Amino acid sequence: MLRFEDIHFQYPGATQPALEGVSFGVPKGQSLGLLGPNGAGKTTLISIATGLLPEQRGLITFEGESLADLRQQAPDRVALVPQDNAFYPMLTVRENLRFFAQVQGIDGTRLREREAFVLAFTQLENFTQRRASELSGGLKRRLNLAVGLLADPEILLLDEPTVGVDPQSRHFLLEAIRNLQLEGRTIIYTSHYMEEIESICGHVAILDLGRVLVAGTLADVLASAPPVFSLRTKQALPTALAEAWTQRFGCEALTGLRYRLPGVQMQDVTAVVAEAQAAEVELDAWSWGQQHLDDVFMQLTHHALRDE
Ligand code: ATP
Repeated sequence: MLRFEDIHFQYPGATQPALEGVSFGVPKGQSLGLLGPNGAGKTTLISIATGLLPEQRGLITFEGESLADLRQQAPDRVALVPQDNAFYPMLTVRENLRFFAQVQGIDGTRLREREAFVLAFTQLENFTQRRASELSGGLKRRLNLAVGLLADPEILLLDEPTVGVDPQSRHFLLEAIRNLQLEGRTIIYTSHYMEEIESICGHVAILDLGRVLVAGTLADVLASAPPVFSLRTKQALPTALAEAWTQRFGCEALTGLRYRLPGVQMQDVTAVVAEAQAAEVELDAWSWGQQHLDDVFMQLTHHALRDE
């Protein structure tokens, strides 16, 4: 188990702490999605786990051992793939890999093996002579991941690895990360994108303003929220209907002509759809059932995780 226990952190000169008693865990060999809006404290937490920031209060352990001690004994076991690309733009893909391997003391046969592995894994074999600055955004992200995987880490911390990439590269990266977990690595994956977390992580922790709002298995977190009725329409709801639904079902208007009606029970669904049709509201889509992570987040914080 990788455990964060009661982690507090305040940046020098800051008036507010960035982390205030953060606790959660992820079993060894599984992945946890760390979610939260801008400024929630995700990068700060990851930075403490990798030793970039000092532990001020609280403890991070892996299989009962202090992670800081473990990093000191065997730095290779923990790797960070940072939010900003961490390689040299003027060097080629291969030169970057060689440089970062050397820094980590990887040479000889091991270097050849690890280089071949990360190039194949990130499908960068055809780009080894390409200058990093000339790679597309998606390929840069792959190189960032390749550098992070060079030392074959057991614990991998990924800080928003899909930011700014096209959908195809994003799909590639998500599959790659899923495979890394299947190989037994313990992964913490920070993101603003709930659907990414839902698709690849078995565990989730939602942070806001330096505190954990909810943490646990994805299934438990989703099951903790009651089923909800959601609706997308072609035009805004007429005022009378919106008011009636607000009173009866707590109707909330979301962005993009979307509404959620938390008070609707399964037996009300047919009547609600009929009421919309009677008011000549054209329905694009509606659903009743288990909530998604963004619904759970919104219920906990009363605001959306990111602007859409
Ligand atoms: P984002 O999604 O924008 O990357 P985050 O969840 O990673 O956000 P952090 O970057 O960890 O959040 O920031 C947590 C809090 O600490 C924020 O209030 C931020 O303004 C503050 N903070 C971050 N870095 C520093 C710093 N170097 N000095 C002072 N305050 C900082």
